[in-house]
Amino acid sequence: MELKKALALENFAQTVYRKCDCCKRVRDIYFRLNIRDAKTASMLVGSLELCKECGYNMGDITNTQIQTERTLEEFSFE
Ligand SMILES: [Zn+2]
Repeated sequence: MELKKALALENFAQTVYRKCDCCKRVRDIYFRLNIRDAKTASMLVGSLELCKECGYNMGDITNTQIQTERTLEEFSFE
């Protein structure tokens, strides 16, 4: 069982301002950590909403490459 499959980090398309489930501080939430059943790594057990710092920390723990910078292309109008 791979750790990053059971603990999968996802980026929110847009940050939301609320309480981080890890550090309990109210700040911009960048990530959701989906927690899956350890035996199958397919069934969803629950999730935690994480701020930038906690998301990066969890990324380090699970050895997952994450980023919070969005590409400028999304904001260009042609
Ligand atoms: Zn946090």
